[in-house]
Amino acid sequence: MQQEFTLIAGPCGAESREQVLETAAFLSRYNASNPPLPVKVFRAGAWKPRTRPGSFEGMGEKALEWLAEAKKTYGIPVTTEVANAAHVELCLRYGIDQLWIGARTTGNPFLMEEIAGALEGCSNPVWVKNPTSPDLALWLGAIERVCRHAKGPVGAVHRGFGMYNSMPYRNAPLWEIAVEMKRSHPEIPLLCDPSHIGGKREYLPELAQNGLDLEMNGLMLEVHPTPAKALSDASQQLDFAQFEQLMSGLVFRKADCCSVKLARIRHILDEVDDELIQLLAHRMQLVKELGQLKKEENLSVLQFDRWNQVVERMTASAQKQGLDLDFVRQILNCLHSEAIRVQKDMVRQEN
Ligand code: PEP
Ligand code: MN
Repeated sequence: MQQEFTLIAGPCGAESREQVLETAAFLSRYNASNPPLPVKVFRAGAWKPRTRPGSFEGMGEKALEWLAEAKKTYGIPVTTEVANAAHVELCLRYGIDQLWIGARTTGNPFLMEEIAGALEGCSNPVWVKNPTSPDLALWLGAIERVCRHAKGPVGAVHRGFGMYNSMPYRNAPLWEIAVEMKRSHPEIPLLCDPSHIGGKREYLPELAQNGLDLEMNGLMLEVHPTPAKALSDASQQLDFAQFEQLMSGLVFRKADCCSVKLARIRHILDEVDDELIQLLAHRMQLVKELGQLKKEENLSVLQFDRWNQVVERMTASAQKQGLDLDFVRQILNCLHSEAIRVQKDMVRQEN
């Protein structure tokens, strides 16, 4: 696939003919205003994989008719999600230009094999979203299955990963996986999907900018005429003005090798720092549980033998990692004095 900037935009789901055509009309007006980055492909899901049954599951074949009409009226290529062989066959019949494979499907090798088989000899571009689990090999395996059958270009879409705690986002970005995808497979264009990472529209500008800073090859953004009334992903879709605002706020930094490396390392460092805070919170929770037990068993808060063991074990492990021992001892002392302070407070409060 050509490594140009690919902007894909449109609603999460195709909900009605009017909604599809109104959004396509807006995007074509947007393109006519000569923005630096025009929308290359119009997206709208015809079949929506929903977490819980009973939610809006897409309009199916009717949505393909609306997409075909949008393409004919506005001359913009269209794309939708396929999750089985029957979807692929219908899309090809309706002239859908590009296909994308959703996160829940990428993680299922049986479905991927079925879809890849249906794409035999097909030259339509295919975008493969990352699987919901943070598993680069599974993502690459899905791409490989498509490449073994389809003849057209294949790209990847980073939409974040489903983690137990992905706060504040809907899906944890785990930028390092996207970075590793680009590093190991620079020939596969990689788009960033800030909508599904963020889950809330307020996060989209910063996530889109991160995608650019990591030299991703484009963006997939959810845009809806009235997001509050959307039948799926209402809180993450942008209205037309918000889409224009996001696009005009993007900064294309100098793509020299140094600034790109700098941005990559900073994003990963931010993630490591977030993990450290989560680990500290977890550690303090355990310290409180211990404090409660010590209180119940009438044990002293400070237990030197135990603390000496901790320091010895941690300094040996730090030494193996090549860390400065004074630095590690300072951190251990901080952790210990905070734990003692909290446990003493607990004893005081309960007396
Ligand atoms: C979508 O693009 O609307 C979608 C369902 O995406 P994902 O597979 O990333 O959840
Ligand atoms: Mn969506």
